[in-house]
Amino acid sequence: MASAWFGPCPHCNISLSYLQGVTGSTMTPQCPGCHQVVTVPRATLLMADHSRPAPLLRPPDPR
Ligand SMILES: [Zn+2]
Repeated sequence: MASAWFGPCPHCNISLSYLQGVTGSTMTPQCPGCHQVVTVPRATLLMADHSRPAPLLRPPDPR
């Protein structure tokens, strides 16, 4: 079951979206900012969170 949470990169502290259980998730995801591997308890896909603190302007992609 996919889930998502948000937090900083432990290396460079940029805001990241941690997407668990989605296509492309891995046990050794790399931060999109500093490209270091982030240790995660479950397979995770990391995405830079550009949506904060600005409000969400687009509806989520229904794919
Ligand atoms: Zn980083």
